[in-house]
Amino acid sequence: NHVLKIENLQVSVGDKPILRGVNLTIKHGETHALMGPNGSGKSTLGLAVMGHPGYTVTGGSISLDDEDVLEMGPDERARKGIFMAFQRPMAIPGVKMADFLRHATTNVRRPDRKEGEELIPMREFRKELKEKMSHLKMDVEFARRYVNDGFSGGEMKRAEILQLAMLQPKFAILDETDSGLDADAVRLASESIADIGHQKMGLLIITHHDKLLVHNPPQYTHVMLGGRIVETGGRELAQELHDQGYDRIRKAYPEAD
Ligand code: ADP
Ligand code: MG
Ligand code: MG
Repeated sequence: NHVLKIENLQVSVGDKPILRGVNLTIKHGETHALMGPNGSGKSTLGLAVMGHPGYTVTGGSISLDDEDVLEMGPDERARKGIFMAFQRPMAIPGVKMADFLRHATTNVRRPDRKEGEELIPMREFRKELKEKMSHLKMDVEFARRYVNDGFSGGEMKRAEILQLAMLQPKFAILDETDSGLDADAVRLASESIADIGHQKMGLLIITHHDKLLVHNPPQYTHVMLGGRIVETGGRELAQELHDQGYDRIRKAYPEAD
């Protein structure tokens, strides 16, 4: 079974060390919540796992099923089934969602495909896209829009969930998928993620709130402070932090902050 393993990971942005030794192992089928105050390094962890060029790994390791992820470029990581929904997704004007998804889905399903080789047949792809969109209660017209171009906050998150449903990655990192959404939209997102089936992937949900976790109860909750995971607990830890904030954590680990 698939395992994503992060060991003693150290990451800098420019000369500035951000992650200072992160250990995290996610097995296929598990859901982990990652919480922590703003600036503690949560997004940095996700971006480093995806191979974002601005985030330099200065120590430690990341492996997927015993393969060295740090040796892979961002594209190869995606093809191997590692997915991240970004806190601030980029717009791709001129590229329709459906075309983008057809490329990305083909790449994940046929990781050895070379650029220029055939995509998933249009008919087959359209059928699947239609089914998944209808299941997620999305209007098919949505797939005709340009990727994230002029999307509302809610639409961006919907687009990410559609990507998740189509790509069926082995591991998914959702970075504050709940930010900027109203209560109904968060509930819909939470239900949709659960519906896609966390049992079919390993899920890392970065969030400050408890709402996304309602339908996706984590087996583990990790708290990041100052670029380290300082505490790991279960579902109840996410609840505590949602209700009471990070005061207890800051007091308990003053050296980390
Ligand atoms: P979180 O997601 O927990 O709010 P981030 O990972 O976004 O935290 O940021 C952690 C720290 O790294 C912050 O001090 C932030 O300013 C810094 N940082 C992250 N990305 C960059 C960047 N691209 N350029 C400069 N500093 C960055
Ligand atoms: Mg933040
Ligand atoms: Mg962040």
